[in-house]
Amino acid sequence: MKEKHKKIKWMGRFFQNARKYFIIAVLASFISTGLNALTPQVFRFAIDSVLGSQKYSYLSNHLWLIAGLLVFLALLSGISLFVCKFNASKAGENFAKNMRDTLFSHVQKLPMEWHDKNQTGDIIQRCTSDVEVIRNFVVTQLLEVFRTAFLVIISFGMMWAMNRKLSLLVLFFVPIVIIYSTIFYRLIAQRFTVADEAEGELSTVVQENATGVRVVRAFGREQFEMERFQDKNEKFAKLWIRLGSLSGLYWGVGDFITGLQVITIIVLGTIEGVKGSISVGEFIAFASYNTALVWPIRGLGRILSDMSKAGVSFERVHYIIRGEEEDYCQKEDVKKIEKELPHYDIVFSNVSFQYGTGKQVLSNIDFTIPQGTTFGILGGTGSGKSTIAQLLNRLYQLPEGKGSITLGGTPIEEIPLEVLRKKIGIVLQEPFLYSRTIKENIRAASKEASMEDIQKAAQIACVDASIQHFTDGYETMVGERGITLSGGQKQRVAIARMLLQKAPILIFDDSLSAVDSQTDSLIRKALKQYEKEATILFISHRVATLMGADQIIVLSHGHIAERGTHEELMAASGIYRQVYDIQMSQDDRKKVEI
Ligand code: ADP
Repeated sequence: MKEKHKKIKWMGRFFQNARKYFIIAVLASFISTGLNALTPQVFRFAIDSVLGSQKYSYLSNHLWLIAGLLVFLALLSGISLFVCKFNASKAGENFAKNMRDTLFSHVQKLPMEWHDKNQTGDIIQRCTSDVEVIRNFVVTQLLEVFRTAFLVIISFGMMWAMNRKLSLLVLFFVPIVIIYSTIFYRLIAQRFTVADEAEGELSTVVQENATGVRVVRAFGREQFEMERFQDKNEKFAKLWIRLGSLSGLYWGVGDFITGLQVITIIVLGTIEGVKGSISVGEFIAFASYNTALVWPIRGLGRILSDMSKAGVSFERVHYIIRGEEEDYCQKEDVKKIEKELPHYDIVFSNVSFQYGTGKQVLSNIDFTIPQGTTFGILGGTGSGKSTIAQLLNRLYQLPEGKGSITLGGTPIEEIPLEVLRKKIGIVLQEPFLYSRTIKENIRAASKEASMEDIQKAAQIACVDASIQHFTDGYETMVGERGITLSGGQKQRVAIARMLLQKAPILIFDDSLSAVDSQTDSLIRKALKQYEKEATILFISHRVATLMGADQIIVLSHGHIAERGTHEELMAASGIYRQVYDIQMSQDDRKKVEI
């Protein structure tokens, strides 16, 4: 119960700038409903006055007064309805916007462990379609529930005042119609989900065949694929026929129940009329209220069954919010803590790590990188190189008792993420570029950077010449709407971006792998001249990238197998030497081929 209360309170947060619009919408819907409920009363009065026993001859001769009043009521009701819809849509959009903003900023701050566990498509769906379902429920369906409740109260009040016996009869049918519609809508929703899934399966087959058309033809699998499609198609058709028949049954039986109610009211109303306990005008007004109630009450069944859909969506969205954010800090703290770091020496002491409950990835890793030096980590794929970088910038958290990592003598857990990540620039093997211009991509690291700064960074990353070569230069669009950069160009744009960050620690995580050896060496030389004070960490499987480092470690299956300078490691004739001999002779061979 407490948990439920918390969730409702949480939902209330999104109403911040939507509440007043929602309240106006509810009030306007009440006014419109109230005005509509007055119309049958005008009819009653008109009929009884013109045809009934107490005739007003003035009114008989001035029927236009009645017509005018009806038009006036309809006009006011129309205006109220407009105010209602307008404010409801404003409330809805504000509500959904607040929710999306909160979710987006929260997802940005969720730790990598959380992202590893959740699929991207699923996260997107929770932040878009699920929010939409909740929005629709809150502003359309909830509003309709309020309106229907008001309509029932007001109509029933008027009916009660006219004839109690007939009113009780109407009341008897209300729960029957609501229960009947709720049950049916639930069944229909279940069948609809199954049919929807079948549609998904069917389109997957079509998509696979369209994209893999070469494989299908090359392996002569046309017949097999055709049969597979026919199978799914038949299942799909059957499910939709079942859904159609159920929905037909719902409408048929529903119409029968409401028809029965209307007939009962008419028959009993007529009897009451003959007995003289209800006037003609009252009877017609009564029948009008009864008809006006039928549709909203039938709709209520649909809303009640949809409530469970909104409940599921709410749970799915709340799941994201339950994820704990990484500990970012306030902007004011950043400057204060920055000052407290005396230097940027990096020390790994006895670090061991595993992802989740997976196998041990790092075991007893010990090393020190003094500020301003260059450090190399050599190792094969899966040896744990990237994990070291990810632990250093706390993309993954080192559990307690598994060693320690310090920066400037302070354990990294005590340094707020904002500061830590500002101090560490990192380029990955497969860097991510936004679908924007090259200039915007480089500037992503520093909004204040001038065009001159951008170009200088691109020159050091040896990508300026390639960019100048494009027709639009730095304004060239990257990604789906623009050009596709080669792997090496992407890596170099990402290096330029990192350089703009002006971080004292630079990590190259296999980020020169797609660049040729010559450019690789040019970038490294330019870097060292440009950033004399920077601590540089080269992570690579390529000896050439890190042989100039002041200190090198060789990782093998998460252990440090060797350490030393290039010369020391060569003299030791171990793994490093072997890798060097193989890679260098390959490079020599390449030179000959060229
Ligand atoms: P390298 O950079 O040397 O190629 P990594 O540090 O990326 O190696 O990976 C080391 C090991 O950890 C590999 O076996 C890899 O499969 C595993 N690993 C890497 N990232 C994750 C992750 N997010 N979740 C689970 N296992 C991972």
